[in-house]
Amino acid sequence: TLPQPLDQYTEASAEAELKKLRAQVNQYREAYYTKDAPLVEDYVYDAAYNDLQTLEKKFPQLITPDSPTQLVGDETLPGFTKVRHAIPMLSMGDVFSVDELKTFDDRLQKAVGAAVTYNAELKIDGLALSLVYQQGKLVQASTRGDGVIGEDVTANIKTIKAVPQTLPQPLDVEVRGECYMPISSFGKLNADRESRGEAVFANPRNAAAGSLRQLNPRITKERDLSVWLYTIVKAQDYGITTQADALRTLGEWGFPVNPNGRVCRTLAEVDQYIDDMTPQRQTLDYGIDGIVLKVNDLDLQDQLGNTVKVPRWEIAYKFPPEMARTVVHKITWTV
Ligand code: NAD
Repeated sequence: TLPQPLDQYTEASAEAELKKLRAQVNQYREAYYTKDAPLVEDYVYDAAYNDLQTLEKKFPQLITPDSPTQLVGDETLPGFTKVRHAIPMLSMGDVFSVDELKTFDDRLQKAVGAAVTYNAELKIDGLALSLVYQQGKLVQASTRGDGVIGEDVTANIKTIKAVPQTLPQPLDVEVRGECYMPISSFGKLNADRESRGEAVFANPRNAAAGSLRQLNPRITKERDLSVWLYTIVKAQDYGITTQADALRTLGEWGFPVNPNGRVCRTLAEVDQYIDDMTPQRQTLDYGIDGIVLKVNDLDLQDQLGNTVKVPRWEIAYKFPPEMARTVVHKITWTV
């Protein structure tokens, strides 16, 4: 969707275009990440971001360290205590077709020199969360923020029933996952807000972010939030060797774990997973915007490492833009 074909850009015209695109993408990001009130649908943002990335790829000398392609999320909100993540909370690369998944898989196979086994999971449309336990007690919860510095939301998280305050063993551990608002609760919340003349949330993801990032935890408590956990930081320290094992262990420790994870040994199995999960989007009571493929072997993940922004061992396949949910109205006949 660039205004002119890629090969017609000169360095000067590319620089001018990049400036415009960065301003546009930054405006979308601020509304989405800082204000929890997006200006446009995700696919519009994704298209602008993709243009930016495409042009930067053609002219890598024009990449600036403050370009949105180099940054995770956004700044933290004022008023919150800041938390420094010992291990950064990164973003994720994304693709929009099965062909691009094949390119991803080919690249990994080449890097590893063998076939790669993946753990496929649903991509939950919420906000990333870190939970720190000491001696099995929840001591700190934080948002991703800009990836290095997040917001301390411990008091807010303690109001969410699904989050265990204590683990079955006195472990020191950090786990990560997604905080979300069930779609049914989002509908009720917006209906209530509308009846009170308050602004409604654009979607369940923004409702979850806006409800968790409240300075008054009493407001969070009134909102119906839940979590799915999917990461144990430094999982190998607990004798865990694969992502599938990490999910199983999180379940044993009492965390909600999404039941739809599946080990895929071939791309055909990944295709099947996508085919099986895509229709679920219409029926699940939480938002999903794609699937995530993660290298299942944790040592291999470490070996592949990260770029400044994304892990090299995982990728999101994003679903096509969603059609409006079908709302079935009940018709009451009066005789
Ligand atoms: P992302 O949200 O696409 O991917 C990274 C995140 O995925 C992680 O931080 C984690 O929170 C989440 N996630 C969900 N399920 C997961 C799982 N099973 N395993 C691991 N992680 C999982 O990346 P991003 O850089 O935070 O944001 C980009 C997204 O935000 C895009 O979807 C984009 O469309 C949207 N966005 C929209 C606007 C807008 O204006 N509409 C603006 C900015 C960003």
